[in-house]
Amino acid sequence: TTFAPIFDASLHDAPILDLSVAGNDAPDDPILLDKAQLFQRIEERTPYGEAALGRYGEPRLIYTDAGFFAGTHPASGRRTIHLGIDVFLPALTPVHAPLPGRVYSVAATPEDLGYGGVLVLRHETDCGVVFFSLYGHLAHEVTTRHRVGDPVQAGDVIALLGGEAENGGWPPHLHLQLGLFEADGPDWPGVADPDQWAVWRERSPDPAPMLGLPPGHARAPEAQRHALARRRATSSPRNLTLSYDVPLVIEKGWKSLLFDECGRTFLDAYNNVPHVGHAHPRVTDAVSRQIARVNTNTRYLQSIHESYVEALTSRLPDGLDVAFLVTSGSEGNDLALRLAQAATGARDTIILENGYHGHTCTTVDLSHYKFDGPGGAGQRNWVHVATAPMPEPTGWHPDHASHYAQSVTERLEDIAACGRKPACFVAETFPSVGGQVVPPPGYLKAVYAGVRAAGGLCIADEVQTGLGRLGVCAWGFETQDVTPDIVVLGKPLGNGYPLGAVVTTRAIADEFATGMEFFSTFGGSSAACAAGLAVLHVLDAEGLALNAETVGVHLLAGLRHLQSTTPTIRDVRGMGLFIGVEIADRNGAPSRHHARHVVERLRGRHILIGTDGPHDNVLKIRPPLCFSKDDADFLLDALTEIFNDRLMQEGR
Ligand code: PMP
Repeated sequence: TTFAPIFDASLHDAPILDLSVAGNDAPDDPILLDKAQLFQRIEERTPYGEAALGRYGEPRLIYTDAGFFAGTHPASGRRTIHLGIDVFLPALTPVHAPLPGRVYSVAATPEDLGYGGVLVLRHETDCGVVFFSLYGHLAHEVTTRHRVGDPVQAGDVIALLGGEAENGGWPPHLHLQLGLFEADGPDWPGVADPDQWAVWRERSPDPAPMLGLPPGHARAPEAQRHALARRRATSSPRNLTLSYDVPLVIEKGWKSLLFDECGRTFLDAYNNVPHVGHAHPRVTDAVSRQIARVNTNTRYLQSIHESYVEALTSRLPDGLDVAFLVTSGSEGNDLALRLAQAATGARDTIILENGYHGHTCTTVDLSHYKFDGPGGAGQRNWVHVATAPMPEPTGWHPDHASHYAQSVTERLEDIAACGRKPACFVAETFPSVGGQVVPPPGYLKAVYAGVRAAGGLCIADEVQTGLGRLGVCAWGFETQDVTPDIVVLGKPLGNGYPLGAVVTTRAIADEFATGMEFFSTFGGSSAACAAGLAVLHVLDAEGLALNAETVGVHLLAGLRHLQSTTPTIRDVRGMGLFIGVEIADRNGAPSRHHARHVVERLRGRHILIGTDGPHDNVLKIRPPLCFSKDDADFLLDALTEIFNDRLMQEGR
């Protein structure tokens, strides 16, 4: 079929814009369209008067009016896939009919981000197949040009492009869409839910030929998931694992939200690294400006390094005022162990069952969860494992602190029996891999006293718990009323920029200065310090520790209410935004199977959480600290629906 040109301008060489999820790296809010930025992005590619094209089948996050969302929470579902082709041209450019037809509907819609003026033509092929073409974002005068049923000839001027004031508030353009279905213009969706794309691409095929362009000329690439999975399988190790039965292709983050390649919006209730929120503009800006200026190492004096170390140590108890900056929790724990060994001249180390401290040679040896798990090489003779506190649904008994501390005392006795003294006790202040455990009050006080009396140092791995996650207590050890000798920090410090820290006393740091230089090439780089300072600034400016406290209380109350009606929820525990929900089967036994089921069902509801614990049956909820009350309610609603399912109720 040949078509009359819709525009006088040639479209063959028109630039094709990328308005996809992955195509925009500006720090914009994907829930609230930054129109000025969108106009600028389009204008940059379209010299005045010349055409540009927007792609068919493209996933976009620019549709932010309530009508594009399935519910009030952004992760409730949203339409993102563009079902037409855009032709960007100046307002009032005439639009011609590409083929004969009759006016099926004509309207002027007033909504922001709607069609504005919109015309639908009905066509019929020689053999009687009926189809429709839609022209959106027109000047409102289109309603005076036509009456429903009027015939239109190929080449007729059928409308003018609308300006921003009458086209739904968009940069001037035509939205051209084909329809193999019957619908009135304003009710004709121009954008589809990614989960319905397979249906919509049949109902609204690629309209490129109607613009005189070859099919596929302005079509967005297909989703990458399968291709990426194949590439992963070819060039990455097998134990570099992916979450979920159907892995996610994540292209964007914003606050507590993640967006996949198709624009599906997920609530991130689980990733603790983006401590102050995904893609925080303040952190992004601080890091990129620093990198643009210089990103060098600790062998030079730089005010940003001193400022960061001072800011960080000022948040820790007096005495903990020397900081080594590193790049990860693993590197931090490795270094902490070296410090303890240098300061004590000893090697024996007491750790907790089911603990995790990192993936390096030494930190795997410190991680019971790793060396005693699949593929583990077993326990080294200098490592001593104490029983970790494991909560009961009935809560802590007053004797629990001394009961569990006794296990550390026994390990100290084992070391003494060999005629040695301990170097240190290393523990996650709140066991995380061990099942999101809040230890019994008084536990660490008893443990630290025993370790110190035996000549050892106390190392707090605060990689999971530090910097406000627990609410108004900045650190886990604070809740236990103890001060460690060495604190290890990682994940949250740089909001995703690799930054860890080992903070200790001047005396211990001096013992470590044995003549061998301490140098970590990337540790404490200028950009890492910029990230760290920005995180501290945002934490304070946005009151995120208080938010963790209030949202945490609200979420825990909601989860406990759910527990009261759900036999398969064995325990709900946590503090701030460090929360665990322990799942059992109908016999009350820990159930990994049911926990996995909940995680997969939540993914289906666009919520991301993980599992942990010795039986992998504890749902771990530890979102970015900007997680809101609405986010918590969205999660609670989904969990309520999942647990009300009969199979989950009965634990079958
Ligand atoms: N300690 C704890 C408690 C952790 O949770 C982790 C990471 N999950 C680490 C140490 C290791 O940190 P990294 O992955 O940054 O090396």
